[in-house]
Amino acid sequence: MKIGVLDVQGAVSEHIKHLELCDVEAVAVKTEKQLNQVCGLILPGGESTTIGRLVELFGLADAIRERSREKSLSVFGTCAGMILIAKEITDGTTGQPSLGLMDIAVKRNAFGRQRESFETSLRFKSLDEPLTAVFIRAPIIERAGEGVEALAEMPEGTVAARQGNLLTTSFHPELTTDLRVHRFFIAMCEEKA
Ligand code: GLN
Repeated sequence: MKIGVLDVQGAVSEHIKHLELCDVEAVAVKTEKQLNQVCGLILPGGESTTIGRLVELFGLADAIRERSREKSLSVFGTCAGMILIAKEITDGTTGQPSLGLMDIAVKRNAFGRQRESFETSLRFKSLDEPLTAVFIRAPIIERAGEGVEALAEMPEGTVAARQGNLLTTSFHPELTTDLRVHRFFIAMCEEKA
């Protein structure tokens, strides 16, 4: 089983390292050919406007939408990747590019200036012990559709959720040594592999 990390901008190598530590073959995905080899794709953190523009420019956006819709691809968006995976962005710049996959409305930079970057202990559904979650200018989920299951909550809103073959976290699981969130995504990819 191969899992890809979208490689147009952002925290790519950290995700690849985590996948490899989970004994999964990981590939950086820049082309449609590479995309066709994977059954899961991580949309990393970075700058969502840049990633969104580049993913269109590299001709990958429609292929990701198509494979996600037909459920041959699981998709995991972290931080900026949450903005990309969302159907609605509540305060994006006009024309903020997005893949529009998951039935959620997301607010960018939702924690305000005082709490731009921080880490906190967080309960994540189905994990026995809390994890340390690293937030960097993170978005939150303000609204979620019926088919969306919230996996982690903060006072400000939902910070992790799943909808079928789609997973998203506001925080950066690739920036700690904890592999459990990546394992959770790998299990989602295995379900349909
Ligand atoms: N705030 C960034 C954005 O809107 C996301 C930050 C991140 O991915 N660490 O794109």
